[in-house]
Amino acid sequence: MSVLNLHEIPDAGAAGKQLSLLFQEGRLPHALILEGAPVRNKVARLLARALVCGGEGERPCGRCPACVKVQAGSHPDLTVLDGDADPRAFPIDAIRAIRSDAYVKPNEAPGKVFLLLGVQSMTEVSQNALLKVFEEPPENVTFILTTVSVTSLLPTIRSRAQVFSFEGEVAPEEEIQKDAAQLAHAVLAKNESELLFRLAGLIRDKTRLASVLEQLGLIFRDAAVLRAGGNVCLSGSEEPARALASALTRDRLMLLYEEAKKAGRAMERNANAALLVTALCSGLREAAGR
Ligand SMILES: [Zn+2]
Repeated sequence: MSVLNLHEIPDAGAAGKQLSLLFQEGRLPHALILEGAPVRNKVARLLARALVCGGEGERPCGRCPACVKVQAGSHPDLTVLDGDADPRAFPIDAIRAIRSDAYVKPNEAPGKVFLLLGVQSMTEVSQNALLKVFEEPPENVTFILTTVSVTSLLPTIRSRAQVFSFEGEVAPEEEIQKDAAQLAHAVLAKNESELLFRLAGLIRDKTRLASVLEQLGLIFRDAAVLRAGGNVCLSGSEEPARALASALTRDRLMLLYEEAKKAGRAMERNANAALLVTALCSGLREAAGR
């Protein structure tokens, strides 16, 4: 019986325990998405190492030939792409290469492992290419994806993978991205309650509110560019930008951008955050034609 060696990650929490149990019972799904707190990447790396480890007992053992190769970055059955280190880590060609590689038998390990870190930056085109291999998963292949939030992935990808959510302290920048993405979605909602609720949650921390407004402006701007047929994504939050672009006209998206900018300028003038949030909420709703 093999046991996942989670000692070095004491903050893996409930999701870590769940993965540990599945690993022990040999019931890991062929596609996993680890989202939430930054510890997700540590756990994902550990799990990938454990899956190719040839040691007895606790895995990864860190001593067997497979573990040594992984540490040297030369294990033939483990592929790592790191979107947290480089947001352009997932071009369509790289996904196509993974797709054909996945159907080739493993060289040394019992199965192949594809570790895709930070997939929040993966474009829809690349996600769709990845989806094809998720739909017809080859035998003995495990895909481990990590992302700030599972909402950054297409629903079709999500539905074909098992999602593990890590709780704990999220890096400030990630939180801001997440807040702004949620606001962008709330703008499209039928009634204003979600938008107001999310904005109200930001009143207490003015510094954070200012950062979220700036990020929200970038998302609106990206959406306007996408709507006009462009393809540049400055916000790093492509999924909400695409949702907005497919729901609203370019004029409305530019109005939203102006609203976010206006609120940002008011923040700089030290405006009352509660009043500002109320005005912003109705301004955004009106701009979106809601
Ligand atoms: Zn080992």
